[in-house]
Amino acid sequence: MRFVSKRLEPRYVMIPEDRIIDEQRRVQRIKGKKAEFHNHQYFTDDPEMIDFLLNHQAYGIEFVSDQPEAPVKNVRPPDIPVPAWETDDVLRKEMEKAKKEAVPMIQGAMSTGQATQPPQVAVVTKEQVVQLIEEKMTSLNDKLDNLILVLSAEKAPAIEKPKPKKEFHCPICRAEFRSGVEVGKHKKQAHPSN
Ligand SMILES: [Zn+2]
Repeated sequence: MRFVSKRLEPRYVMIPEDRIIDEQRRVQRIKGKKAEFHNHQYFTDDPEMIDFLLNHQAYGIEFVSDQPEAPVKNVRPPDIPVPAWETDDVLRKEMEKAKKEAVPMIQGAMSTGQATQPPQVAVVTKEQVVQLIEEKMTSLNDKLDNLILVLSAEKAPAIEKPKPKKEFHCPICRAEFRSGVEVGKHKKQAHPSN
């Protein structure tokens, strides 16, 4: 990747050169890593160096990468690993898991109208059932008694009305009798010719 700087030959040190004294008390030279621009340009294929330069505070001010395939500037410092939940694979698996858990809950909610909890069943004792039935029956009997009272009060005048006496008369002599049978007997005896 090519980096282009405003300045002619800047240097950006990623790992400084150093000298340490090892266990055998010998001086060891630690090779550093740095980007050295020549004639405004620096070329590298080292991913570590590319990352270092793209995240350098001077990037975009002192120098840029002018190549179109330059990756989007990584905000995260390269030495901090990406958390597992940020990787696509883990995120996808979490979403699938959440979906699997959500579907039965939604289906349950659609069929019963309740999302998670089953309808609570009240525990009733036999004595309570008997008492409840007795209360209902007493109430019903009271209602029936009241209804009978109301109905009989309404019908009372009709019942007390004197029934019109059915009268039985002989069609020939207009004699009065208590029944039709007696009228028949009378007709045979008094008016045999008819
Ligand atoms: Zn008669």
